[in-house]
Amino acid sequence: MTAISAADVPALKLIAQVFNNACREQGITSNQNSLFSAEYSLCVLCGAPTAGYKYCFSCNNFMRGDYGTLGPDICAPLFYAIEGRQSGTDIYTYKKPLGGVNRALERMQAVTYLFVKYHLKCLSSAVNSMVTHVVAVPSGRGRANHPLSTELLPYFGESLIQVEAHRTVPARTKGRQSVIAPSIFELPQFRSTDHVVVLEDTWVAGASALSLAVAVRQHGAGVVTIVPLARLLEPNYDRTRWWLERNDPLPPYNPEFCPVTRTSECP
Ligand SMILES: [Zn+2]
Ligand SMILES: [Zn+2]
Repeated sequence: MTAISAADVPALKLIAQVFNNACREQGITSNQNSLFSAEYSLCVLCGAPTAGYKYCFSCNNFMRGDYGTLGPDICAPLFYAIEGRQSGTDIYTYKKPLGGVNRALERMQAVTYLFVKYHLKCLSSAVNSMVTHVVAVPSGRGRANHPLSTELLPYFGESLIQVEAHRTVPARTKGRQSVIAPSIFELPQFRSTDHVVVLEDTWVAGASALSLAVAVRQHGAGVVTIVPLARLLEPNYDRTRWWLERNDPLPPYNPEFCPVTRTSECP
């Protein structure tokens, strides 16, 4: 168990009432049992509620598809963004220039800061391979200086090599990427000893983050981790609503919960 230092209480206060840890449920500190429940489970990749399966629908498609063997070694979503609540609004608002203090951006920064401080090392320990690089998923709309790169990536610090991925296809004007297409990214070559973290702001079906993770592996990295800050949950999906009804109110965000092991114990 990681104890949070007093100096980090202000950062925690910013987010505790708005964010909820991904994969941490009401009344229990671990989802280990639920993985084997016949009624439902949480996707072992993205953390979304499923009807008792190992993977949710979109992650299952990925695992069964052409790139299923090239997926991430670890996927560690930090919090659930729930559509219709403040957490679901923050993931859009943090990107907008507001001309004043952007509280959503402050919360996204706080959750990133707490993750890097308390659990970045867990990615290294879990697979026995030091994290060496971090790369942000580039904007699907071709936006330069995206806040994911300019405001959140810097929390990963100077000790990691920050890599830029460029899209080789024209930006989409609307909609989200839905197919796995690693060839759309231009990347440097990695070494087999490299452990690359792919940083994503929001995982909906994961296509962008998974595409970049596959591309990173195809460019030689030995270990690939995806850290989606938010796993978006949409209550209009039956399974999500069903799960929320049984878990509300979700426990407030707790940085002592490890997003890598999905328990209160770090590896
Ligand atoms: Zn999933
Ligand atoms: Zn940890």
